[in-house]
Amino acid sequence: MPNITGHTELVGLMAYPIRHTQSPTTHNLAYDKNGDDVIQLAFEVDNDTLEAAVESIRALKMLGSNISMPNKTVVHKYLDEVDEAAKLCGAINTVVNTRDKDGNVTGYLKGYNTDGMGYWQGIKEEGIDFKGMKMVLIGTGGAATAIAVRGALDGIAELHIFNIKDKFYARGEEIVDIINKNSNCKAEMHDLGDLALLKEKMHEADIFCDATGVGMHPLEDLSNIPDPSYFRKDLIVTDTVYAPRETVMMKQAKEAGCTRVYNGMSMMLFQALIAIELYTGKSTPVDYMKEKLGI
Ligand code: NAD
Repeated sequence: MPNITGHTELVGLMAYPIRHTQSPTTHNLAYDKNGDDVIQLAFEVDNDTLEAAVESIRALKMLGSNISMPNKTVVHKYLDEVDEAAKLCGAINTVVNTRDKDGNVTGYLKGYNTDGMGYWQGIKEEGIDFKGMKMVLIGTGGAATAIAVRGALDGIAELHIFNIKDKFYARGEEIVDIINKNSNCKAEMHDLGDLALLKEKMHEADIFCDATGVGMHPLEDLSNIPDPSYFRKDLIVTDTVYAPRETVMMKQAKEAGCTRVYNGMSMMLFQALIAIELYTGKSTPVDYMKEKLGI
């Protein structure tokens, strides 16, 4: 239980719905461990109340706020600056109240997307240098877009994005265009219905990610991959889903002999730890957080 005083500083979390969130548990554990007199609280904020809520970051001299749906793609309108990757993927999940040289917050608000950073930090923590790798990514929603853009900016050489032909497909085509214009990564968009192409690209890839939520409730019995023959043994296999801890897709990869198979827990942890470092300037002991959160 934090010792809240007149000095305690506030980090927000602005989203709707939000009461199910794990974020304050993670943040408050980290602030406590780091000896920071900071707490995070969750606030029900939707698009109608977002402008006033963001203005309150300035008025209340908060350290900043995490941002989740439905506000990630809208909040940029109320900020002073947006980080390059967040701008390219069109979504912000962290707003930082920047500080002056004496450490006081200035009211100048900068937006970041730590989802993509968190995914790739999780890969690095496994001892994997992903620069120059070929990737197959399924999905073109918020998580996939953040992973794609950050990966392309940080050195993924070739990216094949697959998606079903739903309302998200056009966003995938835009992201591929943005990546090809703004990075050295060669990106292509494909129909997930073309299973022969998916198999071919997976056999050529170094790293694979399913960022669709297939494998999670209510789709927990499903996989986007028809059978284990799509996986090579040395493919790095990742899922953004963290509940359940092992999806049908991850089971298929293990059946195919893959040994580097990871769920979405590390992405979730590192997106939080990177945001915490942006707010306080402090890095949090990773092993401590993993032990406390049962990761
Ligand atoms: P989103 O709604 O923005 O995108 C959903 C994507 O899944 C789209 O590409 C859509 O076309 C695809 N899709 C939906 N139904 C499908 C189906 N039946 N078959 C194939 N594709 C389908 O969602 P999001 O915010 O990008 O989240 C996607 C997943 O990533 C969710 O499971 C979410 O929990 C997870 N996620 C994890 C973290 C983390 O920290 N680990 C962070 C963000 C999201």
